[in-house]
Amino acid sequence: MRSLTFIIASLATVLTCAQRNALERELRVGLFNEGSPAQLLVMGAGGNCMVLADGVRKGELTTADGLRIRVADGRLSAKSLALAFTAKRIEIRPLGEGFRMRDPAKQHAERAYPGVLEVSVVNGRLQLIDRVPLEAYTAGVVSAEAGKEHHQEYYKLQSVSCRTYALTNQTKHKLDGFDLCDGVHCQVFQGRNRNDSISMAVRATRGLVIVDPDIKLIHATFHSNCGGETMNAEDLWSKSEPYLRATVDTFCTSAPHARWEKTMARSEWLDYLERRYGLKALNTSATDAVLHYEPHCRDLYLGNTWPLIP
Ligand SMILES: [Zn+2]
Ligand SMILES: [Zn+2]
Repeated sequence: MRSLTFIIASLATVLTCAQRNALERELRVGLFNEGSPAQLLVMGAGGNCMVLADGVRKGELTTADGLRIRVADGRLSAKSLALAFTAKRIEIRPLGEGFRMRDPAKQHAERAYPGVLEVSVVNGRLQLIDRVPLEAYTAGVVSAEAGKEHHQEYYKLQSVSCRTYALTNQTKHKLDGFDLCDGVHCQVFQGRNRNDSISMAVRATRGLVIVDPDIKLIHATFHSNCGGETMNAEDLWSKSEPYLRATVDTFCTSAPHARWEKTMARSEWLDYLERRYGLKALNTSATDAVLHYEPHCRDLYLGNTWPLIP
């Protein structure tokens, strides 16, 4: 039996003093990163919100009121029943459980978020950043990524993974001005968790992360469905990791989304392979290999032909 390749550790014991602030630290999560709304309606959740414009307190947003924010002449224009102002940056500090928001131009349901909302203008559009405590973020991610009605122990495991992933990847969006986005690129985060079982799992694992034998936070990657086999880290990234080895996963093959189909014209497929990888249609043995490909394990290259098609 191989020795343990990773360890579950308490954040407080693995981090340096400066990093230990991460325990209480807030993550800056970019919301609606893939398509920010042109305008926004913000309301309090379970209490009023304090509203600040460019760092100056403007007043309170009561639970019966909503602040409509839009971009006008490169600045933010904000209006509620009680307030009307323009600013470069608006901060909504909830005095209750959090804030709710929705795009007034769209039908989609409003979402409730924990944390403090920062709104500014980037490239003529709203940039929304949620300053959210790590534990509340972890609960929100587990609820969005894992879904309902799972076993409590699974939620605990997912909490430790999502917390670790967040801390390992918190510089992913440094150039964008925040830590992590709210989409699948980082981890899906759609606001406050409302599932009691998930809340209990996050509390039970509070501050726990996964580290490697050098006590470094691991890449806690996870998947919806791997199709039956995972990959070695070095086959996907440049560096190998002792805990990310290709592993046959018989659970995924009988789970939803293990099988899917897409139909396209033969010429469309071959044109794509020629454009992208330089596969020549005249090379009949290679075209044959990519048109009749039935792998029995996870190959690194399609059809194992030349040119190599990853
Ligand atoms: Zn991202
Ligand atoms: Zn799997």
